[in-house]
Amino acid sequence: MELLKKCPICGSVNTNLFLTANDYFLSGETFSIVKCSGCGFRYTNPRPEAEALGKYYQSADYISHSDSRQGLFASVYQLVRKYTLNWKKALIRKYNHKGDLLDIGCATGQFLHFMTAEGWNTTGIEPDEKTRKHAISEYGLKVFPEETLDEFKESSFDVITMWHVLEHVAELNPRMEQLKKLLKPGGTVIIAVPNCDSYDAVKYGQFWAGYDLPRHLYHFTKTDVDRLAGKYGFTIVNTLPMKFDSYYVSLLSEKYLKGKMNWMPAFWNGFWSNVLAGRKRGYSSQIYVLKMR
Ligand SMILES: [Zn+2]
Repeated sequence: MELLKKCPICGSVNTNLFLTANDYFLSGETFSIVKCSGCGFRYTNPRPEAEALGKYYQSADYISHSDSRQGLFASVYQLVRKYTLNWKKALIRKYNHKGDLLDIGCATGQFLHFMTAEGWNTTGIEPDEKTRKHAISEYGLKVFPEETLDEFKESSFDVITMWHVLEHVAELNPRMEQLKKLLKPGGTVIIAVPNCDSYDAVKYGQFWAGYDLPRHLYHFTKTDVDRLAGKYGFTIVNTLPMKFDSYYVSLLSEKYLKGKMNWMPAFWNGFWSNVLAGRKRGYSSQIYVLKMR
């Protein structure tokens, strides 16, 4: 295990234990989240060593193989996915029309495939070799391992997206530095992460699927994203909800809590999470649109 000695956002060395929770998804092992005394940022500490983290991802379930699934759940999933792809496209168009798009953590490349068809020049980063090869062979995309981020030229991309990725990134500050370097002037960075201030996060506590220990190394609120982005000259120009996530995360959380699929309570908690989100608490997962100041 690796112990972080200071807060990745403010550098404070003082922390309090926030909660301990199990890896309900895979290993069953117990991990802790600490809360920084300086800025309130919550992060997984200690965390598995970089080389050991891979084993916590070794499950086919973690990669969405929904194309082969059958039944009602699959149909709903496909509908939501189609809707989400169009919604993401519309969001990006508000800030940049066409150009060079980098998706970090592109998985099997469905989003990039969709955006390529929309006329974008797309590039993906995917650390998992199998998944990367799938994206390349299935869609003919340009997808590279994580180290390639260092090799791209300065000001290469109009838009950089990270959909539920930043919470997995081992080195937070160098990654923010890279985003700053790779973005063209006038470009946009879009970051989607779970929000541990949301109603469902508080409701489920240690069973909240958004903590997803030890895969999620950081547990962001809007304040945290704002502070981190600010260190690199970015400012949040828009915050948007991911309203389907509250249902999905509640369903998983119910499973972790009760050991089975509990559709109705999950639906209600997901529903209330969206209704009660408000400005301060926020939604289960949120999208932050960043621009250079
Ligand atoms: Zn801090």
